[in-house]
Amino acid sequence: MHKALLAAAVACGLATVDAFSVTPLAARASVKLQSASARAGLKPLRTPLSKVKLAPRAASGLSKMQMAKVKAEYIWIGGRGGGGDDYRSKTRVLDSMPKSVDELPLWNYDGSSTGQAPGSDSEVFLKPAFMCKDPMREGDHILVLCEMLRPDMTPIKESTRTLAQAIFDQAPEEVPWYGIEQEYTLFKDGRPMGWPASTARPFNKNPDPLLQFGYPGPQGAYYCAVGYDVSFGRLICEKHLDVCLKAGLNVGGINGEVMPGQWEYQVGPAVGIEAGDHMHMSRFLLNRVCEEAGVLVSFDPKPIPSDDWNGAGCHTNFSTKKMRAEGGYEIIKEACEKLGKNHAKHIRLYGEGNERRLTGNCETNSINSFKWGVADRGASIRIPRFTARDNRGYMEDRRPASNVDPYVVTALIFDTCVLKGDTNVFEGYNAKSVKIADKI
Ligand code: ADP
Ligand code: MN
Ligand code: MN
Ligand code: MN
Repeated sequence: MHKALLAAAVACGLATVDAFSVTPLAARASVKLQSASARAGLKPLRTPLSKVKLAPRAASGLSKMQMAKVKAEYIWIGGRGGGGDDYRSKTRVLDSMPKSVDELPLWNYDGSSTGQAPGSDSEVFLKPAFMCKDPMREGDHILVLCEMLRPDMTPIKESTRTLAQAIFDQAPEEVPWYGIEQEYTLFKDGRPMGWPASTARPFNKNPDPLLQFGYPGPQGAYYCAVGYDVSFGRLICEKHLDVCLKAGLNVGGINGEVMPGQWEYQVGPAVGIEAGDHMHMSRFLLNRVCEEAGVLVSFDPKPIPSDDWNGAGCHTNFSTKKMRAEGGYEIIKEACEKLGKNHAKHIRLYGEGNERRLTGNCETNSINSFKWGVADRGASIRIPRFTARDNRGYMEDRRPASNVDPYVVTALIFDTCVLKGDTNVFEGYNAKSVKIADKI
């Protein structure tokens, strides 16, 4: 590998990943970015050097001015937290393409306008944490996902990445893989796409909002369906997949869901913190695609509050190196037992409003109980049939809601299944005790 590329890969944590695992796309994305800029600087010369006339000094200043600027879209999470519906971003124009995320400057924003700081001490700092290509702009530009820090460089409460990273760093040799299935619902004109407008008049002064629209035919016809009468919003789902791939994100697939207007995409398998990085960036892009299409994306876990209609989850598939190796099924079973013992702790952090979704119906287990099973879509944890057959593989935590913070769910699963399972950093956590940088 080229020396500089190797350096970039090491910076991205690739060095900790063994040959058996997938290349984390975080590494791939920045490698690509770097090779693009390297290419620009290292074009093969068409004329032998001896014949090249050196330009006068003044001209080099001019060519610098003419060099393409790079738009860096700094993205962060607002006061409503990491559930997917409160991304904020602003653009910074740079003179050149950064080789890695560490080269990007710190920035700040007005936290009093996002519900994250008082007006009298309003600055929240943005520390770039992950970058990829910006697929929404023409030319070579970047998206920059940031951590949000107080002036003393400790993370504010919505900034969970540092805490997650610290948990993963305790056992990198376990090489945790995550495949996250993000379900979401598309809304247009105040109702899910594909849902008919109501023709009924409201029959009291404060009608239930549900009476404002009619109902489509019952579930059964829509999951992975093809056709004008059963698939609603496919262009958005397809466009989103395209922009994610263009950005270099590790998105593995898409499918239509059980409720009309509901869709899914999968991130992964991704290693450790990369899963959260790519999930946030892909959610940001989904918001952007929908913004341009005049459609609203909802990450609410149960958009239609009735067991006639499925909710939206964020199934989190998980394995470690040992689980993927011969005999790994035993370790998976042990992990399921640990998850059972920590059910309440996980549920508290698995998304707001998840109690409306985990009813025990609609392919969920009740929020008040825990069970795991092979091929059981009514269980809290499902073990794929082939994992049991092959005696190795992975498990699927079906409890996380569509609006779960991906840094929290991935790190918490790692802590419970692999580490001591005693972390409390995400609940009642005192960010002031977590120092993440020495200086501004
Ligand atoms: P489902 O059948 O539940 O709808 P999907 O195909 O939507 O499953 O998602 C399964 C996810 O699990 C994918 O993101 C896939 O990359 C991921 N995955 C596959 N193998 C592993 C593994 N060994 N460890 C973790 N995740 C995995
Ligand atoms: Mn799926
Ligand atoms: Mn699904
Ligand atoms: Mn699933």
